[in-house]
Amino acid sequence: MSDKPRFVMCYCTGECPGFQGMNLWQLINRVRNELDVEYAIVHPQLCVDDGDRFWRDNLKPGNRYIVGGCDPRMQRKMFKDTIADVGGNYDDQVIALDLRNMPAEEAFAKVAEVIR
Ligand code: SF4
Repeated sequence: MSDKPRFVMCYCTGECPGFQGMNLWQLINRVRNELDVEYAIVHPQLCVDDGDRFWRDNLKPGNRYIVGGCDPRMQRKMFKDTIADVGGNYDDQVIALDLRNMPAEEAFAKVAEVIR
């Protein structure tokens, strides 16, 4: 187990208008190269079945996950039960960030703020 957080960017299928102004790969590469994270990855749609399978496969007790995506209240509603099913605790392990409607630079600053 590592104390470093994992950054997971939920890109809302790539079709959501809220992310059209973001250079996704610039954000991911800056997070993984410039911030103290274990890794940074992209998931296309965490709130459907394969998103549940992602959490079931990957969530480890004690690890922390910063999830970029939509409204944090929506993320909590959609992920907390699956995370509880595999022995995790959403409120202790996940920090959800709303990264819609912002360019990569602004999204990076928001991720950096919670990591630092
Ligand atoms: S969790 Fe939010 S950002 Fe991710 S696909 Fe679902 S609605 Fe979109």
